[in-house]
Amino acid sequence: MNILLVEDELALSNAVKKLLEQRGYFVDAVYDGASAVDYATGMDYNLIILDVMLPRLDGFEVLRILRSEGIHAPILMLTARSTVPDKVTGLNGGADDYMTKPFDTEELLARVGALTRRTGEVVVNTAGFEDLTLDIASATLRCGDKSVQLSHKEFEVMKTFLYNPGMTITKDMLINSVWGMESEATDNNVEVYISFLRKKLKFLKSRVGIKNLQKIGYRLEVEPC
Ligand code: CA
Repeated sequence: MNILLVEDELALSNAVKKLLEQRGYFVDAVYDGASAVDYATGMDYNLIILDVMLPRLDGFEVLRILRSEGIHAPILMLTARSTVPDKVTGLNGGADDYMTKPFDTEELLARVGALTRRTGEVVVNTAGFEDLTLDIASATLRCGDKSVQLSHKEFEVMKTFLYNPGMTITKDMLINSVWGMESEATDNNVEVYISFLRKKLKFLKSRVGIKNLQKIGYRLEVEPC
């Protein structure tokens, strides 16, 4: 599921991109209207999230060009201006939905979900290994008829394992993907979350365990019966 994100406020763009990627979407971010037209006409997107106030071409202009070029991807407009005339302009111009800034991230995800479903494709919303299934939207880990809610960091750690099946994951990889390159997190943080996850795997009675590979990292493995 590919999304084009057109937003010139870098911090907002990064935050939205990260949020969507956590839910399994692939996101291309561009920061001005002319690039938005280039990307949207060059590639197929399942959804375009389009800010209104943009450098080079504004969002309404981008919308008009895309629709006149026959681009039918759903378009969600983001606007800081909540006045009715702007909303009417957007919807008359062929936008499918709009949100006013600042917006609630859960609401954004709900609308993205609704708009991408409309295209008839299924979002990849689970990841699995052996008897384990991780529900990406709810951060719930399941095994058979048992399930357990993961905390945010536990979820990120488990997702890193499940998105890299069979791979040995080093502590540095986990620190980078879960805490971020510039974080102060250490091996100790990783070990703490690995131990939390091991407890949850035990609770689930999963056959999968997190194997410790001395000085290398960790790997998900099926434990012998
Ligand atoms: Ca803007």
